[in-house]
Amino acid sequence: MAEQKQFRVVIAGGGTAGWVAAAALVRHLGASLDITLVESDAIGTVGVGESTIPTARSFHALLGIREPVFMRETNASFKLGISFENWLREGVRYFHPFGTVGRSLPLADFQHFWLEAKTRGFGGEYGDYSLETQAALANRFATADPAPLGYAYHLDATAYAVFLRGLAEPAGVRRVEGQITAVERDGESGNIAALLLENGERLAGDLFIDCTGFRALLIEGALETGYDDWRHWLPTDRAFAVQSETTEPPVPYTRAIAHGAGWRWRIPLQHRMGNGFVFASDYLDDDAAREQLLAAVPGRALFDPRLIRFTTGMRKKSWNHNCVALGLASGFIEPLESTSIHLVMIAVTRLLQNFPRRHDMAAAAQRFNAQARAEAEHIRDFIILHYKRNDRPEPFWRDHAARAVPDSLAARIALFEEGANAYQSGDDLFRVDSWNAVMLGQGVVPRAHHPMPGEIPSADLERALGDLRAGIAAQLAKLPTHEAFLQRYCGRE
Ligand code: FAD
Repeated sequence: MAEQKQFRVVIAGGGTAGWVAAAALVRHLGASLDITLVESDAIGTVGVGESTIPTARSFHALLGIREPVFMRETNASFKLGISFENWLREGVRYFHPFGTVGRSLPLADFQHFWLEAKTRGFGGEYGDYSLETQAALANRFATADPAPLGYAYHLDATAYAVFLRGLAEPAGVRRVEGQITAVERDGESGNIAALLLENGERLAGDLFIDCTGFRALLIEGALETGYDDWRHWLPTDRAFAVQSETTEPPVPYTRAIAHGAGWRWRIPLQHRMGNGFVFASDYLDDDAAREQLLAAVPGRALFDPRLIRFTTGMRKKSWNHNCVALGLASGFIEPLESTSIHLVMIAVTRLLQNFPRRHDMAAAAQRFNAQARAEAEHIRDFIILHYKRNDRPEPFWRDHAARAVPDSLAARIALFEEGANAYQSGDDLFRVDSWNAVMLGQGVVPRAHHPMPGEIPSADLERALGDLRAGIAAQLAKLPTHEAFLQRYCGRE
C-alpha cells in the first residue's frame, strides 16, 4: 500500500470559523496538507457575527486579501469603534474607539494629563482626543490619508463565508456537503479517527477542527471535554437577531444600546442593517424581547427575528486529543466588543504557528489551551466591566452591579480607582486606551492620578491639549464622508 504522505485535516463545519480556518490553512500549508471541509446546507450557519475588530485586517493580510474586493463582496462598511448608549444611565453615551487617544508619555499615559486638566476646569471630553471617535461621530472615514485611522469592518456573515470559500476551494480545499451523524474514535489513543456522514461517507483524518458551532459535535459530543460556565458573571443567555432595510447611509461604528435586561446592537452594512437584542431570560421573556427589538428596528425587518440561545463560557480545553475547536464550538462570550471572530482568527494563526505532526501534539495543545484561556478570560473581564458600574435602576443592572467580579478584574478596577492606571500585558487584547474608555465611560472615578502633570503650568497644559484637539480637527476636516469613501473604494461610483 502506498505510504500516506499528506497530513489529513478535516474541518467540521462551514460557518465563519470553518472557512476562516480552511482559507488560512490552505494558503500557508496547502502543499503539505490534505484539507477537507464538511458542512450541512440543511443545518446552515448561525447567521450572525458581523462586527469585527482591527485584528481582522492583519489576518486578512495573512491571507493576501485585497481590501476593496473584500469590502465589495461582503457589502462591508468600516468601523471605528463602538458607541455605548444608555450604559451608565439613560441618555448618556460614550465611545470605545480603535486607535490611540491623546498622546502618552513614557511615564504617564494620556488620561493623567486629561484628568489633571479636568481638576483645573478645562480639557473638554476624553473623546475629544480621539480622531476615531470624532471621525465616527461626524460620519467620516478614509483608510490612509490624511491620517491612518484605527479601523475594522462590519460585514455580511453569509457573504463572508462565501467569500472565504471562494479563496479556499480553488486553492485546494475539498468541500463535502452532508450531515455528520457519528464520530469514530480510535480505541487505543482516544483520538478522533473519522467522521461518518449521513450518506455513508467516512472522512478519516489526522487532525480534526471542530467548527460545528454551538453543537460542538466533536470537542463535546465525541470527546466530552467539558465547559466552564460563566453565566454567574455574565447572565445574558439569549439574543434575537433580524436584518432590516437600510434607511440611511451606514455610520462607521457599531451601536450597543443598553435596555432594561441587556442591550441591543445595530451593525450597518452597505445594503442593510443588522439588528440584535441580547438579553437575560431570567429578567425578560422571549415575547417581550422580540417586541422590543422590532419596535427599535429602523426600516422594514427583512424576516422574523431569530432566537439564538447561548451559554457564556469556554470549553475546558480548546484543543483536546487531535481535535481543535474554533468559533462557537470552543465557547462564547456575548458579542458586546465583537471579539468572537477575532478569537477564531487568532486561534487559527496560533495553530499555524504550532502546527502539529502526526503523533506529536500534546505540548502544542497545552500551549494553545493556555493562550486560549488567558485570552478568553481577559475578554470576559473586559465585558463584565461594562456592566459592573452603572446607574441604571432595573433589577438586571442592579444585580450586575452587586455581583462579585473575577479577582483579575477587581484588581484592575482598584488600580484605576486608586491612581487612574490601566495596563496591557502579554497576550492581552485590549489596550490601555480601551480600558480607559470603558472605565471612564462607565463612571469609574479615579481618586487620584499621576503627579507629573500637576507640575505643568496651566497655560502650558491648556496649550498642549488645545494643540492635540486642533490637530484632530484639522485631520477631520480633510476626511471624506464614510459613504463617499465606501462608494469610491468599492468601485461603485
Ligand atoms: P456556525 O456559523 O454555527 O457554523 C457551524 C457550521 O457547522 C455550519 O456550517 C453547520 O452547517 C455545520 N454543522 C453543524 N452541525 C453539523 C453536522 N451535524 N454535520 C455537518 N455540518 C454541521 N462575533 C463577532 O466577532 N462579532 C459579532 O458582532 C458577533 N455577534 C454575534 C451575535 C450573536 C447573537 C452570536 C450568537 C454570535 C455572535 N458572534 C459575533 C460570534 C460569531 O457569530 C461566530 O463566532 C462566528 O459566526 C463563527 O461561528 P461558527 O462558524 O463557529 O458557527
